[in-house]
Amino acid sequence: GIVIEHLVKRFGERAVVDDLNLHIQPGELFVLVGPSGCGKTTTLRLLAGLEPVSDGRIYFGERLVNDIRPRDRNVALVFQDYAIFPHLTVFENIAYGLRARHAPRDLIRERVANAARLFRIEHLLRRKPRQLSGGERQRVALARALVRDAALYLYDEPLANLDAQLRHQAREDILTLHRQKGQPAVYVTHDQAEAMALGDRIAVMRDGKLQQVGSGLDLYERPCNQFVAFFIGSPG
Ligand code: ATP
Repeated sequence: GIVIEHLVKRFGERAVVDDLNLHIQPGELFVLVGPSGCGKTTTLRLLAGLEPVSDGRIYFGERLVNDIRPRDRNVALVFQDYAIFPHLTVFENIAYGLRARHAPRDLIRERVANAARLFRIEHLLRRKPRQLSGGERQRVALARALVRDAALYLYDEPLANLDAQLRHQAREDILTLHRQKGQPAVYVTHDQAEAMALGDRIAVMRDGKLQQVGSGLDLYERPCNQFVAFFIGSPG
C-alpha cells in the first residue's frame, strides 16, 4: 500500500498540509474530502511528486519516494483541468502513457479500444480534443489515465464537469475499473455524496489537518467532531 508519515507542506509560513498520517491499503479506493482550500490537491501533488515535501515521508510499498521523480513513481493522474494534448487525436491521447513506456502496438490498440468502449468514446477516437464537449474530454482523460497499469491512481475532482447522469455512470465506471486494476487510488472531491458513493474509506480534511478516517458508515454514525458531522451530513 501507500504510507504517508507526518507529511507537511508549507508555502511560506503556512502549512497547507499539516502532519498528515495515512495508510492506504493495496487495492483501496481512498477518498479525501474537505472544503475548498483544505489541502486535498496539494496532498495529491505531493503523492505524484509534482511538489517537494517540506517534511515527512511517503512510501509506495517499501520504497521511500520522497526524492523520486514523478515519471519514476508510476502514478496515473486525472486532474481537474484534465490536461489532454490538443494536437493529438483522442486515440493518441489515450495511447500516450503506453507509448511512452514502449508498449507493443497490438497491446496499445487493444487497451485503447477497451478503455474507449468503457467510457463510450469509441466513435471519437479520430477526433481532436477541440472537437469534443467538456464531458467527452473528461472521459478521454479518464480513459487515458486508466488505460495503463500504474502503482497508484490519483483523481482530482475528475467528474466535476459532467452532468448528473454522466457523473453517475462515470462513478460506476471508475469503481468497475478500479476493482479490475486492484491498485490503490486516492480520489479527491469536495462532494460528500461522491465520497460516500466511491470510497472504501474516506478521510476528512480541514485546514491541512486530518479530522477523521473511516468508512462512509463510520463517519456518518460516529463522527469524531461537529465539523465531520456537518460535512458528512449526519444527524449527530
Ligand atoms: P479545492 O477543493 O478548492 O481545489 P484543495 O483542498 O484542493 O481546494 P489546495 O489546492 O490543496 O486545496 O490548496 C490548499 C491551500 O494551499 C490553499 O489555501 C491554497 O491557496 C494554498 N496553495 C496551494 N498551492 C499554493 C502555492 N503554490 N503557493 C502558495 N499557496 C498555495
